[in-house]
Amino acid sequence: MLNILGVDVGGTFVRMGTLRDGKVENLVKRSSSEIFSAPGGAAAGLAQALKEYAGDTQFAAVGVGIPGTVSRDGERVLNVPNIPGLNDTPLRDALTDALNAPVFVENDITMLTTGDSIRLGLERGVVFGCYIGTGLGGAVLVDGKLLRGRSALCEPGHVPIYGLDRPCGCGKTGCAEAYVAGRALERLLAEKYPDGNIADIFDLMSEAELSEYVDILAHLLATAMQLLDPDAVIMGGGVCAMSGFPRELLLERLSQLCMKPVPASTLNLLYPVASDVSGVYGAAVFARNSLI
Ligand SMILES: [Zn+2]
Repeated sequence: MLNILGVDVGGTFVRMGTLRDGKVENLVKRSSSEIFSAPGGAAAGLAQALKEYAGDTQFAAVGVGIPGTVSRDGERVLNVPNIPGLNDTPLRDALTDALNAPVFVENDITMLTTGDSIRLGLERGVVFGCYIGTGLGGAVLVDGKLLRGRSALCEPGHVPIYGLDRPCGCGKTGCAEAYVAGRALERLLAEKYPDGNIADIFDLMSEAELSEYVDILAHLLATAMQLLDPDAVIMGGGVCAMSGFPRELLLERLSQLCMKPVPASTLNLLYPVASDVSGVYGAAVFARNSLI
């Protein structure tokens, strides 16, 4: 039986699990600060943690999702804002040596898109993953495989929206992320609804604020629809999962912004249900698909 190790690296926790018969087993959650402050460096700390997890188990492949950018060949981790110790490290080779198995390192949103696409029955066709959390990340899959551009970067959050100029964390201005992701919602809450709870932000917003939110996100999605003509868009991440997230309004506005009759009449926005193992599952199935 094929055992695949899935690893979901986050700023707070590292989750590890074994994919066996299509299911994640033996989930272990460890503190990121403990792993990445190892004396030998962040990469060595992760290698040690995975070795401890593996014990005597031989894995057919290992998938590691990281919240940052990875070189096109998957060899080097380039930049991980929340875990600076991983910046510019040859993580793949360090883990391959430690585990004696093929290792695939990729951006965590790519891993999530891969896992969610399988759970949603989207193994074939073009899938656009749009994940809105603190920031806005994404990935494009074609028949289950990642569409890799020149720098292996898919950054829908930093698509500029014409006419807007709010500064973005990336250094540019007018990026979609600066208006529709978690940081922007936190800011709106602090400025306008300081006594409210972030979980209720979509219910607290005025009609004008909600309409602007929907309009900006719909422009971003319409751009993706017209460029990619995807079979489905996966709307993931904590913001899309919030109660009150304006699914119907978004679909209505997106439909107005897309060409008729298609893709306006065939829009397929899917909202996956996230769990504690989503990232681990995604990393493991990404590794499994990469073996083929
Ligand atoms: Zn930006």
